Amino acid sequence: ELASRVRVFNGDGATKDGHEVQLLANVGDGAAARSAAEANAMGVGLFRTEFCFLDQPEEPSVDDQVEAYKAVLAAFPGKKVVVRTLDAGADKPLPFLTDATEANPALGVRAYRTTRRDPEVLDHQLEALAKAEAETNAKVWVMAPMISTAEEAKAFTEKARSYGLQTAGMMIEVPSAAIMADKMFEYADFASIGTNDLTQYVMAADRLLSSLADLSTAWQPAVLRLIKEACDGAAPHGRPVGVCGEAAADPALATVLVGLGVASLSMTARALPDVDAVLKSVDLAECQRLAGIATSSATAEEARQAVRAELPILEELG
Ligand code: PEP
Ligand code: MG
Repeated sequence: ELASRVRVFNGDGATKDGHEVQLLANVGDGAAARSAAEANAMGVGLFRTEFCFLDQPEEPSVDDQVEAYKAVLAAFPGKKVVVRTLDAGADKPLPFLTDATEANPALGVRAYRTTRRDPEVLDHQLEALAKAEAETNAKVWVMAPMISTAEEAKAFTEKARSYGLQTAGMMIEVPSAAIMADKMFEYADFASIGTNDLTQYVMAADRLLSSLADLSTAWQPAVLRLIKEACDGAAPHGRPVGVCGEAAADPALATVLVGLGVASLSMTARALPDVDAVLKSVDLAECQRLAGIATSSATAEEARQAVRAELPILEELG
């Protein structure tokens, strides 16, 4: 019937056998956070703070930042909100922070790397975030984008904690960070894999070029093998690894990611019901089997088709 086709997520992400998978939302501002809360997201897995900065000719004041961050945090009282520090540069240029004349902006002084030139922008952001957390009930998990080395992971997490932000981690979106994950987790309390950039850098394919879409997919077995490496690096440290790139919103790929050891999936709120429904149709052992199928495939298309063929529920979702 029609009614049964309107899927809702009840805020209880898990596999069929009860293995919890946090299903979180990607948001950019308070309005998106409120609609994510209405969609029963279990928290925020990626707050892209640069949305508060875009179109600003200058750095916003700490007070303005506190207000922007509180608008998001207030939508998730008592819940986890993963806040990403500024990811400026490449596809997200900011006039006051990034250099538009770089020859290769995706490989340039972007994201965390801007602290080499302008460290105080990150300091202001962390100060604002600590204030916003103190004035709301949400649990802030702060992370930096484009961390490439263990020194950067150490420097960022120590700085974040010096502002009173207790849970500090990093994005894994540069291949070096995935390869060196075991070292990263000596410093990072958690990590979130940005599959959009990780795929771009593993496949050497500009994420903005639709003509390279066949390369720019996390179904590429090379990308999945690297995600496995990141999860394996975290496991001995007991640190959670999430995924917050587009891959998390693909229900079939979500089962593979859970099988690889991913603990949380963060996505656009409208993707929550389908991802939830597919995860609830399989148990953890099945996810692990599907992950094995995908990582041992030769091509992205082979991986995608082989996994989808094992998930009959996908036909019902349409
Ligand atoms: C990613 O790279 O996958 C990611 C989540 O960050 P963004 O798309 O904002 O670069
Ligand atoms: Mg990214």
